Amino acid sequence: MQTPAPFDYVRASSVAETLELLARHGPEARVIAGGHSLLPMMKLRLARPDWLIDINDVAELDHITEEPDRLRIGALTRHATLLASDLVGRLFPIVHDAERVIADPVVRNRGSIGGSLGQADPAEDLTTVCDVLDAEIVIASPGGERVLGIADLHRGPYETACEQNELITEIRLPIRSRHGSAYEKVERRVGDWAVAAAGASVVLADDGTIEDVTVGLTALGVEGCVPGMLEAICQQRPSEELYAEAGRIAAAASAPVEDQRGPVDYKRHLADELTRRVLRRSVERAGAMVPA
Ligand SMILES: Cc1cc2nc3c(=O)[nH]c(=O)nc-3n(C[C@H](O)[C@H](O)[C@H](O)COP(=O)(O)OP(=O)(O)OC[C@H]3O[C@@H](n4cnc5c(N)ncnc54)[C@H](O)[C@@H]3O)c2cc1C
Repeated sequence: MQTPAPFDYVRASSVAETLELLARHGPEARVIAGGHSLLPMMKLRLARPDWLIDINDVAELDHITEEPDRLRIGALTRHATLLASDLVGRLFPIVHDAERVIADPVVRNRGSIGGSLGQADPAEDLTTVCDVLDAEIVIASPGGERVLGIADLHRGPYETACEQNELITEIRLPIRSRHGSAYEKVERRVGDWAVAAAGASVVLADDGTIEDVTVGLTALGVEGCVPGMLEAICQQRPSEELYAEAGRIAAAASAPVEDQRGPVDYKRHLADELTRRVLRRSVERAGAMVPA
């Protein structure tokens, strides 16, 4: 099936109007941002919204704003905008690592960070990035605004805590000194979804030991960050042995399934190897970051 079921379409021009349209058109109304996930689902008849509410004119959702202790990213910010931002690359190189391997320029020109999180595809890259950066998600609802930790946005594959009558408006990333981050993905061909990927975020103490660390895995059956990583490698000096220990923990936590992208053993091996690589690079980057 390659043709969507019939639907009505309306463009919103503000967050308030989007919420009003969602309420007016009821449970089968869906917002559309870049459309790169929703439209394929509609063509396959996996989604059959009665109404599409287009948020591409909602300018207040498209911004990157630096504050002293956090970076605020509007939900409609495109992949291409994030990739082109020197500010994003300097503060959170993990975002650039991930954006370079998300799809192709056509998808990146339209696809948005809010749509990526809203879609909640288990193989989606920015969810892992937001997990390891401990992002906060701002959601506008008819009763006002609420802020969720990224862990509370997760409800499982293709499901989030953002209700049908609500809208993700902003993603907030905490800015920390001596912080480094990295993402690495294995894909079958350029632009493909991940066979497996890993992301890491590291804060170094003044003496060079690891003060804080998070690791996340993509397409490897782990919801949120890998448990036990902080306890295992915190307050220790970075070393190849430590990265190997972290890799073992990540592989043990992973629960991959065999599919056309590879067998379970291969994916577990990737969880191990990619974790070592992203931790090594995060530590290098944290070391290069002058304390604020
Ligand atoms: C060929 C191809 C390859 C791709 N490869 C990758 C890849 O390698 N890695 C990767 O991570 N992604 C990949 N993607 C997905 C791409 O990143 C999409 O852009 C992204 O998943 C969805 O963003 P969107 O703006 O297009 O969302 P849409 O398709 O418009 O929406 C997706 C869902 O999110 C909801 N939504 C949208 N905006 C909001 C909001 N502000 N608040 C609440 N809900 C919202 C919609 O209602 C819908 O349910 C690929 C897509 C294509 C077509």
